Amino acid sequence: MNINKIYKETPYSSGLNSPVVDENAQRQAVAKENTQKQSIANEHSQKQMPNKESETAISQDQKRRFKILLAEDNPINRQLALTMLRKIGYNANAVINGKEALKALVLDKYDLLLMDCQMPEMDGYEATKKIRQGDAGIQNVKIPVIAMTANSMQEDREKCLESGMDDYISKPVHHKTIEKILEKWLSVF
Ligand code: MN
Repeated sequence: MNINKIYKETPYSSGLNSPVVDENAQRQAVAKENTQKQSIANEHSQKQMPNKESETAISQDQKRRFKILLAEDNPINRQLALTMLRKIGYNANAVINGKEALKALVLDKYDLLLMDCQMPEMDGYEATKKIRQGDAGIQNVKIPVIAMTANSMQEDREKCLESGMDDYISKPVHHKTIEKILEKWLSVF
């Protein structure tokens, strides 16, 4: 027996109770549900859908017209996400907590909100509840809110959905993930 081999493999082995496996199963379940939601949404909005000339559902031109608000207290994460959003081609602004997000939504028109969950003063859950209650104006009651969760625990994700968020992505946020989720929620417009 090669003891080094056992030692190396054990911490990362994917047993049935491994969080990695559970997370994947949850992702698949959520993805399936979202695909169903999406196909219903597409049926309703098919007539307004853009020309499907390219692989992506949203053209660069349309991306520039969409305005994304990012609420994130961590300066490094905030800058990374903001840079990523702009690189993808979106018009994006950032605020440092939920309270500031509510103010920004009242002052300017946004199409989607990317929301960190843990933030000082007002966290993402509370901010989303307030948005859904109309505290950021009637025009924002149904704005898509995508959570950026620091951990992938099922209960955290449920907490996001219960507070009124529409979807979530895990941090660290990757370019492709952010690009896909934005296309998903903005292509129904
Ligand atoms: Mn945070």
